Amino acid sequence: MVLGKIRSLVLAFGLILASSAVFAKDIDISGLRFGQDGNVTRFVLDVSEQAKPGIFLLADPYRVVIDLPEANWHASDKVTAVGAVEGFRHGLFSPGIYRIVLDLNRPATVKKSFHLSPRGGYGHRLVVDLEASSRSHFMAAVRESKKSRPVFAAKETPDVVSPRRRVSGKRVIVIDPGHGGPDPGNLGVIGVHEKVIVLKIARAVRQELEASGRYDVRMTRDRDIFWPVRERFRIARRHGADLFISIHADSISKPNVSGASVYNLSETASDKEAARLAARENKSDVIAGVNLDTADDEVSSILIELAQRETMNFSAQFASILVSELERDVPMLKRGHRFANLGVLKAPDVPSVLLEAGYLTNKQNARFLNSADGQRRIARAVRRAIDRYFEQMVALGR
Ligand SMILES: [Zn+2]
Repeated sequence: MVLGKIRSLVLAFGLILASSAVFAKDIDISGLRFGQDGNVTRFVLDVSEQAKPGIFLLADPYRVVIDLPEANWHASDKVTAVGAVEGFRHGLFSPGIYRIVLDLNRPATVKKSFHLSPRGGYGHRLVVDLEASSRSHFMAAVRESKKSRPVFAAKETPDVVSPRRRVSGKRVIVIDPGHGGPDPGNLGVIGVHEKVIVLKIARAVRQELEASGRYDVRMTRDRDIFWPVRERFRIARRHGADLFISIHADSISKPNVSGASVYNLSETASDKEAARLAARENKSDVIAGVNLDTADDEVSSILIELAQRETMNFSAQFASILVSELERDVPMLKRGHRFANLGVLKAPDVPSVLLEAGYLTNKQNARFLNSADGQRRIARAVRRAIDRYFEQMVALGR
């Protein structure tokens, strides 16, 4: 009897603990300001409660990264930075971590950071003071601040389950909406960020594929959150993906250029524009403030491994089918099938393509990509291409 009571108490307590963990309150960020006093640039963030930030520095380019618990952003994005700060970005970096990245125009280190309690009409505030410094001083501070830098590379993605293809008998398709969180991608002429548009396209593709009943569809993200480039194809591998499709939207200085293109991995780019594109897309981790110290050491061995496998052939086959299906319904670039050294396509054993769905720098093209009709047309073309690709695979006995 007593035991039973204790057990139910323990159970109830456990439930309270579990529910408070699930519904942990987010912080609200309601405003921000920059100020300059001598060689000190002050950054002030209006927050709903006191929170201990993780602050660290990254070089080349100079950045200050401020990590907070998961937060809701209500502040304006149009606040003008001053002093050593040139601009800022923010977003969900990983579950439980909201990241603010300050881009610096010159080296400046954290002089101090502290919390201010509500006073004089202001609520809780987080204050970070940055002091102008030399490059060598900044580099020393980067090394020092490594200690407070979270190690995300080693962290498993939380929403991954084991592959169930053998159970369901369905092919596993992993859709990867590019960018997210503190990495917004490019901002087109219609004022909507790439990360927002590609998520809409990805959801349309998922809906189309699931409606066919033939595919098991997984997304690397289904909300505004960031994943490092490598983590994206690792998610595909962990799901046992049969096909990986990364979805992006392009930008260029010429506003008349429009149309979709499909990329395969290659050590050498097919043309100058493809090389520039790879440089832009591969920068995602830098923009989100990921530590790249150890990033590219595996690449050359992976490329050799890739060449030895059939993966690249399958990737190229799917890309050319996808181009021909897109051409029926979607505005296309002249040479739709291209090659570039794109980090996200480096899974050695999952056929992978990157779809640049169009140009956000062209008004008509951007409107098409942001419309339900445009998203449906792309989704249907992707589904037809996947159908044809697997028909060929089956014909080859795969
Ligand atoms: Zn992109």
